[in-house]
Order: sequence, then structure tokens, then C-alpha cells
Amino acid sequence: MRLIPDPPGKIIDGEIKFKDEDLIKKTDLELQNIRGNEISMIFQEPMTALNPVFKIGDQIAEVIILHESNPKLNNKNYRFYNKRKIRKKMEKQAFEKAIEALKMVNIPDAEKVANQYPHECSGGMRQRAMIAMMLACDPDLLIADEPTTALDVTVQAQILALMKDLQKRKGTAIWLITHNLGIIAEMCDRVGVMYAGYIVEMGSTELIFDNPDHPYTRGLIGSIPKITEDIDELEIIPGNVPNLIEPPSGCRFHPRCKFCKQICKEKPPELIEVEKNHYVACHRYKEVKYSELVDFLKKK
Ligand code: SF4
Repeated sequence: MRLIPDPPGKIIDGEIKFKDEDLIKKTDLELQNIRGNEISMIFQEPMTALNPVFKIGDQIAEVIILHESNPKLNNKNYRFYNKRKIRKKMEKQAFEKAIEALKMVNIPDAEKVANQYPHECSGGMRQRAMIAMMLACDPDLLIADEPTTALDVTVQAQILALMKDLQKRKGTAIWLITHNLGIIAEMCDRVGVMYAGYIVEMGSTELIFDNPDHPYTRGLIGSIPKITEDIDELEIIPGNVPNLIEPPSGCRFHPRCKFCKQICKEKPPELIEVEKNHYVACHRYKEVKYSELVDFLKKK
């Protein structure tokens, strides 16, 4: 989304493909047209993401007007926007669309909520309003960054059900960023597991949960309590998350990995396809894969 200005943000290499086009090669103006219209984002803190001094309906309407009338986006409506009478009409229409968007995210009494300020609404309501704002422009991709972190568990479940429903109804692809494995299991078709800034394993949700091959993914899955198993201690991942200003050499997970060998300290592993649609970045994924079997045979 290129939301971080340069400096301090800098893209030094690689490509970001969206609909077969590289977003890195886009100019600011081209990207501005993609943001909101084609890719939208929900942030994790609905409390601070909304402007406290504007009504919720006006904030959603502003997004609609911006995308329908921005001169820089070569939108045909702009030349009319400067005429007061037409502007008023556009604002009225945008406010009505905002109410429709609020209804779409199951907000009861949407007209009333559209005329309220953020502090008058609960956390769940505010996050719904944020989702309505993002959906007002009908994006193809919704990036949801920890969308339920600040909400209590029942509201979390409602927001997730709402996102799932919208995905089904409108076909919007959802890219969910979360540390909550339960939410991943519930919501996702594909998972990319990240450690210290790198994807270390990627595959279908079933594969990642049932048959992980990276030691970090194994540690994560092993640390979930299971209602069906009677165990004394949960697995833990020893050590701490590394300092990213001075990250570990080679594989960034090596100081915490029980499978670590010399090569791991020297060379960063590449993400390779170890079976169809299953990618792992580990020099020793084969040993990891069969480690339980080896331990079992040793005990015999
Ligand atoms: S590359 Fe080495 S240190 Fe990194 S996860 Fe694999 S075995 Fe562990």
C-alpha cells in the first residue's frame, strides 16, 4: 500500500504483484487510484483509526466522494464537484451510500449510527464502521491487519463472521494478518507463516496445521493446548524474538532451533516448494519432517 513514506520506508528489492501488475513500478498517482478502489485496509485499532471529530457517516461519505471525484484520479465527476449545488447533491448521495454500507455490515439502525460520532459507538460497532468504509469502494482485496485484536471475544466472532459473509457475497479476497492461530484455522484457505520478517512456511491451512515442516511452525502448533490430548506440559519455543536491527546471521530462527547445524548459521535458507503448493524455508526440512519417526524408532 506504500503507506510509509520514503524516508524512512524503503523498498530495496523484489516485486509486489497484484492482478499481474507490479505495484512497485506504479507512480504515486496510479497507486492512489488502486488504494481504496481496488485494495483496502482495515487496521487493528478502531478507536484510533476513525477521526473523533467527524460523524461516522461523513467519514464513510468522504471516502466515497474522494474516489468518485478526485481530479488527480482523472475522475469525470470532478469538474462538477466545484459547483456548489452539484457538490451538495454528491455529498447527499455519498451519505446515502454510507448508510447502505453500514447496513451491509449489519449495523442496526444505520441512519442513526451514520449521524453519530465514534465515541458514541462501541468497539465492535466502530470496527464494523471501518469495514463499511473499506467496502464502500468495493475493493477486490481487503487487507485486514489484526482486525479483532482490540475487541472482546464475542464481538471478535461477530466481526469474523461478517468478513466471511462479505467475502462470500462480494467475492472480495481477504488477506488476514494475525498472530491468533484459532482465527487462522477458522478463516483461512492458505497460510504464510512469518518469522523475523521472512515467510518460513506456506501452504493450505490443513497442511500447515496437520503437517508442518518448519521447526518454527511446529513450535507454534505444538504450543496450542488440545482438548483431546492429556499432556503435562505444552511445547515451548526457547529464547526470544530477535532484535531486527541486528538480526541473527543465516537462518534467523537458528538461535532458537533444536535442529540447527553450522550451515544454518551461515546461509539464509530459500523458500522452496517441498511438495505441491507447500513451501518451506529450512536447510533441514527433511530431517525435521522425519524427526518424530526417528525418535519413535530410537525408543523402540
Ligand atoms: S534452517 Fe536450520 S536453524 Fe533454520 S529452521 Fe531450519 S534447521 Fe532450524
